[in-house]
Amino acid sequence: MAQIDPKDPHKFKRRGILFIVSSPSGAGKSTISRKLLAADAGLEMSVSATTRPPRAGEVDGKDYHFVDLEKFRDMVAENDFLEWAHVFGNRYGTPRGPVEKALAEGRDVLFDIDWQGAQQLYQQAGGDVVRVFIFPPSLDELERRLRARGTDTNEVIEGRMARATAEISHWDGYDYVLVNDDVDQCFQNVKAILEAERLKRSRQTGLIGFVRSLAKSGRD
Ligand code: 5GP
Repeated sequence: MAQIDPKDPHKFKRRGILFIVSSPSGAGKSTISRKLLAADAGLEMSVSATTRPPRAGEVDGKDYHFVDLEKFRDMVAENDFLEWAHVFGNRYGTPRGPVEKALAEGRDVLFDIDWQGAQQLYQQAGGDVVRVFIFPPSLDELERRLRARGTDTNEVIEGRMARATAEISHWDGYDYVLVNDDVDQCFQNVKAILEAERLKRSRQTGLIGFVRSLAKSGRD
């Protein structure tokens, strides 16, 4: 539950948001997530666990928690994941503890997870989940971006391109769908979605007391 800000007492208490941004790899989701986190102190990134080996430059505990299959299976058995899925031949999962802690402390949580994760979180947390899908402008442009990244082998890139088409087919499981033609514009749109979702009446659990005080003022 978000706390009341003394500088802005009419920013009412509200339910936290599980804000999911999915896209095929290379469509610009990581850049947009980074910009969102830098712009918004009330938003925290969920760091997933994965059995995929780290890519060059990736940091354990920051980009992912890199774990072996045995550890991942233990975490599944212990019910440590809010959701988990097989993606590109590896396993990925959202650790439950940090998400529950952030929400309880009044922060919203950003998830970079695939459509399977979005579906599972939605099953569990329905109205608190907001799902955004980002399309690349075209498949050619997606391939160009993946190659420019220079972190994956040809074989991996071909696999990702094949998966991209499959992922795109799940666009209708999302609340918002954007095309990333221009990363700054796309970021502005994602930010606007988050800000509007925060203002939804259904999330403003502190509203009723204020409305009562308004209705009473000048009448007693
Ligand atoms: P990458 O290996 O390129 O970092 O991620 C591959 C895919 O796995 C991306 O589509 C990403 O959104 C997805 N992914 C990352 N973490 C999770 C997770 O915890 N759960 C699920 N379901 N998907 C994830």
